[in-house]
Amino acid sequence: MHCPFCRHPDSRVIDSRTADDGLSIRRRRQCPECGRRFTTTETASLTVIKRSGVVEPFSREKVMSGVRKACQGRPVTEANLAVLAQQVEESVRASGVAQFDANEIGLAILPHLRELDEVAYLRFASVYQAFESLADFDAAIEELREHPAAPGTPSSAASTATQE
Ligand SMILES: [Zn+2]
Repeated sequence: MHCPFCRHPDSRVIDSRTADDGLSIRRRRQCPECGRRFTTTETASLTVIKRSGVVEPFSREKVMSGVRKACQGRPVTEANLAVLAQQVEESVRASGVAQFDANEIGLAILPHLRELDEVAYLRFASVYQAFESLADFDAAIEELREHPAAPGTPSSAASTATQE
């Protein structure tokens, strides 16, 4: 990355952060030659292969819209969904892999959704883990009972008393 001031061919990254759209990374850089600082915006190469074979950039909005359906009628806010989408992006980025298939993104959503709302988790899991029978639901519910969410994390406990 050339320094825009003195054209020095190298620069040092002093800070990087993902932009809100999740598709680009802003980096603060410093030129080792003249010492001046500048910002670059670079496209983050995190892509998703859809079932159709189409490759598209990872999108937090797509994560949110996928989960939103499973959360219908549940006490989950848009802000909750935004946090979840960010957690999902962080966990897939942390894997260091640049390309995922849509199913892997779905699987990355599950542990975060489970902490958010267990009913929404079951709905979502039934699609992404391809539940085929009631026995699959039973096994997933049993798993939830044996390993409840840690105290202090949002759970559906408060909402089970209210009828929809
Ligand atoms: Zn410079």
